[in-house]
Amino acid sequence: MQAWVIGNWKQNPATSDDVQTLLSDLLATADKDDGANSAGCQLMVAPSCIHLAGVSTHLQDSPVLCAAQDISAHSGTTGAYTGDCSAQQVADAGATWTLLGHSERRQYHQEMHACLLSKMTHAFDQGLGVVFCIGETQAQYDAGQTLAVIDEQLTVIKDILTQQPALADTLSDRLIIAYEPVWAIGTGKVPTVAEVSATHQHIKQTVADYGEALDNITVLYGGSVNADNADSFAADAMIDGALVGGASLKAASFLAIAQAF
Ligand code: PEP
Repeated sequence: MQAWVIGNWKQNPATSDDVQTLLSDLLATADKDDGANSAGCQLMVAPSCIHLAGVSTHLQDSPVLCAAQDISAHSGTTGAYTGDCSAQQVADAGATWTLLGHSERRQYHQEMHACLLSKMTHAFDQGLGVVFCIGETQAQYDAGQTLAVIDEQLTVIKDILTQQPALADTLSDRLIIAYEPVWAIGTGKVPTVAEVSATHQHIKQTVADYGEALDNITVLYGGSVNADNADSFAADAMIDGALVGGASLKAASFLAIAQAF
């Protein structure tokens, strides 16, 4: 299975100049190593919306794809939604994928099932792929609720298939799940590889139960992945790549993680 390593830049870097420097470093190193895809995995970066068009232009003709970090829930196209960017607009800016359901969106913008179902519908309608982020909080982990939380979060996929059954045949090419325990994001704390592996196995089985064509969905791990621990995650057959926050802001660490997968 094709591995993926995706950089979520969040609200970084501060300036367009800093963005250009990061991209130049990324492509220079990738070129030196004979192309990022020689690492055996697909690379993608998700800049903030304001930098999306510049980044996608810079990455044209490179092996690195460009994703949005989010899209509007209200309309897939245009409308009176101040501050929002639609799926159509981010696609026009050059994004081919979007993250959805990142824990920071869930936490700071109260995004839950109905909102995420709407966003996912708009994304697929506009031809974007979706990296759907799920994961439990520290309190839920401590209470042994990880799988129950994940099962509930995954029902967005079940519901979109109920609404649009025809999606099932192509969904495994257009949907990636990123399992990101909230307590591991940006904290330096990570679950054991065995824990991640078991959770990924559960996610794959749950999604496979939604439809035959979904029997091998790509599942990435995210949460404090870095150049030192990437090897251990990459060695597990259930872990198909990584969604990387902090360590994606330096080309060297991002590409070291890519090399591991
Ligand atoms: C993330 O925010 O998706 C993430 C995985 O962050 P970090 O790698 O910094 O933990």
